[in-house]
Amino acid sequence: MRNLRPRHVRTRLTLWYVVVLASVLVLSWGLTASFLFLQMRSQLDNYAIQDIETVEGLLYFDPHGRLILREDYHNHPESKDVLERLVEVRSSNGGVLYRNERLGNQALGGDPIPGEGEGGYSIRSARLSNGTTVRMASRRHTLDGHPMLIRLGYSEQPIWARFDELAVATLLAVPIVLALAGLGGFVLAKRALAPLEEMACRAEEITSERLNERLPIGEVEDELGHLARIFNNLLARLEQSFEQLRRFTSDASHELRTPLTAIRSVGEVALQKDGSREEYRDTIGSMLEEVNRLTALVENLLTISRADAGRIPLHPTVFSAMDLAREAAGLFEVLVEEKGQRITVQGDERVSVKGDRVFLRQALVNIIHNAVKYSPVGGTISVGVQHEPRGGVRLNVVDSGPGIAPEHAAKIFDRFYRVDESRARDAGGAGLGLSIAQWAVRVHGGDIHLQTTQGSGCTFQIWLPPIAA
Ligand code: ADP
Repeated sequence: MRNLRPRHVRTRLTLWYVVVLASVLVLSWGLTASFLFLQMRSQLDNYAIQDIETVEGLLYFDPHGRLILREDYHNHPESKDVLERLVEVRSSNGGVLYRNERLGNQALGGDPIPGEGEGGYSIRSARLSNGTTVRMASRRHTLDGHPMLIRLGYSEQPIWARFDELAVATLLAVPIVLALAGLGGFVLAKRALAPLEEMACRAEEITSERLNERLPIGEVEDELGHLARIFNNLLARLEQSFEQLRRFTSDASHELRTPLTAIRSVGEVALQKDGSREEYRDTIGSMLEEVNRLTALVENLLTISRADAGRIPLHPTVFSAMDLAREAAGLFEVLVEEKGQRITVQGDERVSVKGDRVFLRQALVNIIHNAVKYSPVGGTISVGVQHEPRGGVRLNVVDSGPGIAPEHAAKIFDRFYRVDESRARDAGGAGLGLSIAQWAVRVHGGDIHLQTTQGSGCTFQIWLPPIAA
């Protein structure tokens, strides 16, 4: 059954349209025919009633006591359908007193029914012995003291003949109407669906290299326009993601190449000359330094790509925010001492946060590391923890570094973004620290902001949402 279903929507639409139209036509034909039938039959009833009155005045008994009907009374010349008048008169005991010629010896309506024609007219349908269906009216009458039942009928044949004419006309007209409607419906459906076909063709041409192409939208704000717009938005998002991926891959390769080149050149230089044991140690030391840098970079890249794929499971716990801040700051004790800097952790000991401690610490470590890196010798870094009035927790990291110019401030959370390429690379950064920190905070439903003016240090603010009850 399934493969009988037409493949094209336009064909299916047309078929549905034709089926619905045919049903409507059949239904309206049935209603019209029934209405006409009832109307014509009630007209016959009226004629029969009128004629009974006429017949009453035209009946008389001849000298031999036979009942006679004068047939020269007026007809209904306006209607040829009622010429076939049938008259029968019965006595009170049911005997036939009179039958007109057209009726011959056929009974009109059989033996009288109890109460027939009493106190008004009785109307009903009956069948003659020759099979003709008739519509008949009856009424009781008294002539010269003789009670009698006058019956007057008309054949329903003319009505059925009309019916047949109507049926033939309909049978001829309906297929033509349906064919025309089907053709019109098909053309309309084809035209209405043409943009869809165009979209499908265009969509087929769109590959990952041609994601900048868009579907034709057209001018109208209809369903197809809506579909095209949604599809185009999807394409735009895909294009953006592909572009991001492309940029990430090329930036990552670029970043990986730098330490690898450094390792190779250090090794090559060392191989070219016979060096002392001390010199070899130095060479291996600087190669290991690059390897450490490479390892850190690869770890960061791995974190980012797993975060992008949504494959980092979080293990949330509730812990003290001050403990977290002290732990993160503690990692830089040696570095801070070397640079003669001072790092302080202050705030409300009662403040707790809920989240994955490892990733929230990583976020804070990355920010504090930058603060230490960019603050001058003898500078101060302060980490603050407090309740946020609108709810949740705020962690601040304030440094005494050079600050960041507004044109860079908006971009520093972007991947691989460095304000000063050479300075930052010397300091060991690949421009991933802040984007990882931002991801870690956001994945906890929080936010991260930078407040800075060039020359007066940076303040990084982390906000984390309140612990849900
Ligand atoms: P990186 O690992 O290179 O430090 P980040 O994503 O952590 O990368 O930082 C991006 C850039 O933002 C850095 O290269 C640096 O130029 C700038 N930056 C970050 N923190 C500070 C800061 N505290 N003071 C001045 N500049 C900063």
